[in-house]
Amino acid sequence: MIYLDHNSTTKMEHSVSKAMLLFFSEDHFGNPSSIHQFGRKIKTALDESRETLARFFDIPDAEEICFTSGGTEAINMAIKGAFFQAKNNFKRFHLITNQVEHEATLQAADFVESQGARVHRLAVDRSSQLDLGALESQLQQLAQDKNNQIMLSQMGANNESGILFPYEAIGSLAKKYGALYHLDAIQLPGKVEGFSVANSQADLVSLSAHKIGGPKGMGALVVRRGVKLVSLLGGGAQERKRRAGTENVAGIVGFAKATEVVRARDLPAIRARRLAMEQEVLGQIEGCHLVGRDVDRIANTSYFVFENTPGDSLIMNLDLAGFAVSSGSACHSGSLNPSHVLLAMGFDEELAKNGLRVSIGPETTSAELAQFSEVLVASVARIRERSQRFSKFSRVSLEDRLKTNQ
Ligand code: PLP
Repeated sequence: MIYLDHNSTTKMEHSVSKAMLLFFSEDHFGNPSSIHQFGRKIKTALDESRETLARFFDIPDAEEICFTSGGTEAINMAIKGAFFQAKNNFKRFHLITNQVEHEATLQAADFVESQGARVHRLAVDRSSQLDLGALESQLQQLAQDKNNQIMLSQMGANNESGILFPYEAIGSLAKKYGALYHLDAIQLPGKVEGFSVANSQADLVSLSAHKIGGPKGMGALVVRRGVKLVSLLGGGAQERKRRAGTENVAGIVGFAKATEVVRARDLPAIRARRLAMEQEVLGQIEGCHLVGRDVDRIANTSYFVFENTPGDSLIMNLDLAGFAVSSGSACHSGSLNPSHVLLAMGFDEELAKNGLRVSIGPETTSAELAQFSEVLVASVARIRERSQRFSKFSRVSLEDRLKTNQ
């Protein structure tokens, strides 16, 4: 089985699980908040991991890292925490986001809207690009009322299409108009060169461990110095009172350890292998769209849309043939929903169900991708042929039925 679904999750390296295992052992079980030796030993490991992560993500102060149960929690904490903070300060909360964000952002936006916030969901064009001029006008207009608290929530790269947003330029615009800037950076590390929290201009940055070879259910929200949020979890004083609850120490250690592996990644080589596969597929299959073909994308992702080829059939065919890939859209009652990302980019309902995301990893070889292209070409042809035969059959029977009715 060849795994080509690295945007969904990644496998943990042996070095990561080994580092974590120590914290399930008999002499590393202490609570980091305890002041006795058992606790202090664990607290040291936690502090060292925080420092490692701060160095890797270029975060000026390691204390700005607040550990969470993953990217979804970090996003919720950023958006809802900022909303309640503004509410407590009697400010009118305006959230500016866009239509292709991850569900975690879209649903947090719906939630704050239901609680009285104004949400502005920006449209994207056919290449998933935002109109930065329109964004600036909107910021300028909202910034005129000093009673407004503006928050801009933006992903660095889209998880389905791999298309990159100019997140540093968007950060500069946010700064210019005094808006709080939340960056969902979950698909950036290990997939773009030189990602840096400090350079992103963001006030809040969401991160997830399992996208970079770390454990699932582990993430962080970087809360830059001076940024205030109402915390969503009350209880103990962990994470500087930003998120109560005994820390997931093994998860934190695994998150930090994973950065050592990601650091060694050869991005130009990954990009070259992915581009060669795209050329092969585009050259061999008619009626094939490569989403975001002419714009910047993260190194490892290709998102195809095939005409007359339902995404669920294609993924099942490829699975049987030994390739794990995904569609961008969520499955609902056994069939695929149209992808909200493709719909926002102007694809119709039918095409928006035909997405195929191929997200390769550092170990994916050119030979595997050549094999994949070959199987993909054959699978698309087979599905199209079958659906043609089926539609001919159903047309005949429909005509027959019409005749009988006459
Ligand atoms: N944001 C983006 C862009 C993602 O790709 C994902 C995961 O697919 C998330 C948020 C959610 O992260 P997690 O799986 O850690 O909750």
